[in-house]
Amino acid sequence: MILSMKTDFASMLRKAGLKATPARLSILAAFSKKHLPLSADDVTAALKGKKVDAVTVYRTLASLEKSSILKRVDLRKGSAHFEMADDHHHHIVCKGCGDIEDFELCNAEAVSRQALKESKRFSEIQEHSLELFGLCKSCAKS
Ligand SMILES: [Zn+2]
Ligand SMILES: [Zn+2]
Repeated sequence: MILSMKTDFASMLRKAGLKATPARLSILAAFSKKHLPLSADDVTAALKGKKVDAVTVYRTLASLEKSSILKRVDLRKGSAHFEMADDHHHHIVCKGCGDIEDFELCNAEAVSRQALKESKRFSEIQEHSLELFGLCKSCAKS
């Protein structure tokens, strides 16, 4: 399981024209293991002991975003968060404690069609982001 995932990441990187360096592979492994949007600090913490420094993490995140392997998620947390671009879903973020939950429901296609119908200047929608902000059950109680 772990071996085949590593192989997938290596071929994913090669397909994007990037070398499968140990830093890139460990960073992608961190994303698939956590299955949550991660900031550069989260990634650096997750790779503690692997000798991947913060500067390398920043650079690698930028190159993986540029290659569309990672996508940027705006969780209003002050630092940019990233996640695997091929895993389409959205998030609910707690404005109290910052807890994040995924949700799979996506009606963006219908919204996009409607938006295009009403738009006078646009002919195409290519992507979207949708994050919901609220309070988790324990923050709502206090
Ligand atoms: Zn909360
Ligand atoms: Zn969506």
